[in-house]
Amino acid sequence: MYERAEARIDLGALRHNCRELKSRLAEGVELCPVLKADAYGHGALHCVSAVAEAGADRIAFATASEAMLARSVVPDIPLLVLGALAPGEIEMAISARADVAAWEPGFIATLADQAAAAGLVVGVHIKYDTGMGRLGTTDPELVLELARTAAAHPNLKLAAIWTHFATADEADATFRDLQRDRLAELGERARREFPDVRLHAANSAGLIADSACHFDMVRPGVAVYGMDPFGKDPADHNLLPVLSLHSWVASVKDFEPGMSAGYGRTWRAEQPTRVAAIPVGYGDGVRRGLSNKGEVLIGGRRHPISGTVSMDNITVDLGADSDVRVGDEVTLIGSQGGQTILAEQVAVPLGTINYEVTCGISPRVPRVGREEADGEARPGGGSR
Ligand SMILES: *Cc1c(COP(=O)(O)O)cnc(C)c1O
Repeated sequence: MYERAEARIDLGALRHNCRELKSRLAEGVELCPVLKADAYGHGALHCVSAVAEAGADRIAFATASEAMLARSVVPDIPLLVLGALAPGEIEMAISARADVAAWEPGFIATLADQAAAAGLVVGVHIKYDTGMGRLGTTDPELVLELARTAAAHPNLKLAAIWTHFATADEADATFRDLQRDRLAELGERARREFPDVRLHAANSAGLIADSACHFDMVRPGVAVYGMDPFGKDPADHNLLPVLSLHSWVASVKDFEPGMSAGYGRTWRAEQPTRVAAIPVGYGDGVRRGLSNKGEVLIGGRRHPISGTVSMDNITVDLGADSDVRVGDEVTLIGSQGGQTILAEQVAVPLGTINYEVTCGISPRVPRVGREEADGEARPGGGSR
């Protein structure tokens, strides 16, 4: 049996999601899955290989070291670093042969110098801030000027002009369309000078919501992992959840009325019942905000997290008649016996989003790549 807890990563589902998303794209539109933050907590290395097999044209990251790590397993596929690079990170991005994002003249000058020093040509994606108000320049003239700089320098290649949506997950498309139109207008001007420059904008929500957002490439993150960018149900978009999180029953005890479980005695038995202790807690990324709010699956049934989530353990009220035994498998995210707990559902009592739920699973939890999750309880508690 595994220690404490494990996150199972269904690489078959990951490939399915890539193909599903790619099937929505017109011919020639590139699929660029975003595998930043350790693939949204799913484990970057096995995910990099799987998306490369499933038709990714390029893979995006937030940092140079993420791209470098990926380069060790995918020698040929184009990579893109989306985030801001500190001067000390530029060299690593270049040696990973990743394209980089740029929006500032001083940065482009440094990039060009370092690319020349390395004897390499770096692809540059000029970031146009059309309304996210975060990275990028809001000045379309500066975008064109930087595009000219990149196009003219022998160690730079003007690869793309791009933007990022602030509201693509919202029902009201007004602002998304404004951002899209700003990119389209500038892109038209840019193409008069640089016919080959590519445009990209769409995250998962933009990809799913409107093909007019696709431009020449899409950058889905959350949907690749089978989570719903709109926070509801991935099945609505024919996406399969990739991650499931499991632990096992370490102890089962009979509780008399008045007995309490966990720190602060925030939960007490009102009637005779049985309480299980599960060796997973906020040190593993099971958030303390789930105390007396979350649920887990054991034996194919939902049971409430009863008492305060501690660093290394949670406690669960099994009910008086429970036949749950030590060693039984516990599913915190995923399916068991026809019941499912989605990351989307875990997010609700926490006041957060599915993204943060999987990103928050801590490094203490091993990510185990599998070809096909069976999603079913294993009597005796996990056979791995
Ligand atoms: C994270 C990120 C994405 C992916 O967003 P999802 O909502 O997960 O699809 C795309 N583009 C940029 C710039 C990002 O930072």
